[in-house]
Amino acid sequence: MVAGLVSGMPDDPGPICVVGAGIIGASAALHLVEAGAREVMMVDAGQPLSGTTPAGAGFVARFGSDHNRRLGACTIPLQDYGLDFYRRMHESGADLEFASNGNLVLARTPEVLEVLADGILGHPQVSAATRRLDADRVVDVMQGAVDPAAVAGGVYMPEGIQLTTALANREVLRRLEESDVEVQWGTEVTGVSVVDDSTTGLETTQGTIDAATVVLAAGAWTSALLDSVDRRLPLVPMVATRFVSEPVGLSPLMPTVQCLELHLWLRELHGAFSWGGGFAYRLVSALQAEGLEFGYERPVSQTLLDAQLTFQENVAEVFPALSGLAPAETIQGVPVYTVDGGLYAGAVPEIEGLWALAGDSESGITHGPGMGKLVAQLIMGEAPFTDPDPFRLDRVDPSAYPDEAAMVAAMAGDRIASAANRN
Ligand SMILES: Cc1cc2nc3c(=O)[nH]c(=O)nc-3n(C[C@H](O)[C@H](O)[C@H](O)COP(=O)(O)OP(=O)(O)OC[C@H]3O[C@@H](n4cnc5c(N)ncnc54)[C@H](O)[C@@H]3O)c2cc1C
Repeated sequence: MVAGLVSGMPDDPGPICVVGAGIIGASAALHLVEAGAREVMMVDAGQPLSGTTPAGAGFVARFGSDHNRRLGACTIPLQDYGLDFYRRMHESGADLEFASNGNLVLARTPEVLEVLADGILGHPQVSAATRRLDADRVVDVMQGAVDPAAVAGGVYMPEGIQLTTALANREVLRRLEESDVEVQWGTEVTGVSVVDDSTTGLETTQGTIDAATVVLAAGAWTSALLDSVDRRLPLVPMVATRFVSEPVGLSPLMPTVQCLELHLWLRELHGAFSWGGGFAYRLVSALQAEGLEFGYERPVSQTLLDAQLTFQENVAEVFPALSGLAPAETIQGVPVYTVDGGLYAGAVPEIEGLWALAGDSESGITHGPGMGKLVAQLIMGEAPFTDPDPFRLDRVDPSAYPDEAAMVAAMAGDRIASAANRN
């Protein structure tokens, strides 16, 4: 608990409008209601589930104590909160296609296994049951889906869960409806109204909305809204791709998997492979230069679909059942990366009543509940459940990143750096 940091916050935030009803905005609205806010509404330019959230693969894990993530240990309380939030939702009877099978980070070579073991098992906040596996144990944990000759071993983090992201988002929206929170769909916010440095409402394609408090949670589109009040965050949107194969009888007991050497994440879904990775990620700006259209719908990039198909046989060296399988479904979305690898959840500097949740760093399913809870507590003047300082919007000076090239250069240590640098 960090008491005292919230002094001076209004106890009655007045009418609140959350912009964006994906998993992050919907989580913020739900936590505002749970914290006692009386007048909460939401607006979304699209229709339910039309944003990035349903593209998400549904891994929820303690990524802050993982290897090669730049999220930092400050994010672990948010991950623990997300794990608990979805587990409670599942236990209350909601169908999230929830499974609690853990998360496995695979290594193909002994050298990489050593690096992983040092990074994960050596992390000061490693969970007690995290353990190193040799190749044979990997095969057991993976229920036979891996070729033992293709891996050196892995590190298994048992607390990881998996779910279907669209179902989780839909359940949060259902709870909001139950709490009488209105969502205005098909309503594009075109600007935030500010008078004397205080928020007064929103301009939208359906007219003006009065609101003393506004939370911007518009995913890949948040930068445009910040522009409307002359504020800027260094944010890098990329298109990411997920394939779902034909069902091949994969075990539902399989953990979610990451493999750094393949730039891969992969899991079981309805007996099929749901998978993707850095080989089919690219900057939105680079794809737009090639003619990609990106409105409020999820993008479709044939370039990236082709790239993933081309890479498939490399993944099949480790997961033989994937060899030659045509994708039964492809889905793309736009995660947004920050220059320091962290997340933004806090007040927009120098504008009373304006808040933002941004820079999901491809982990908004995991962090949405915790980001939403944190900003709700700050707005409602409650002591936050974790230190809000590492999530402040003003922790980074935007003038140090005059253009996207400068932002991408700062992401050099990121696990998707090679994809960000691909033109
Ligand atoms: C392929 C892929 C795999 C992923 N896998 C994982 C994973 O395993 N685990 C994980 O934690 N994360 C994962 N992610 C990341 C995760 O999906 C995102 O971080 C998360 O969905 C972002 O949620 P959001 O609410 O910010 O965005 P969105 O779901 O896009 O919601 C934003 C909403 O804002 C609305 N909006 C935008 N502009 C306006 C406007 N001007 N006016 C009104 N409304 C507006 C949009 O219509 C949209 O509905 C993955 C992402 C992808 C693409």
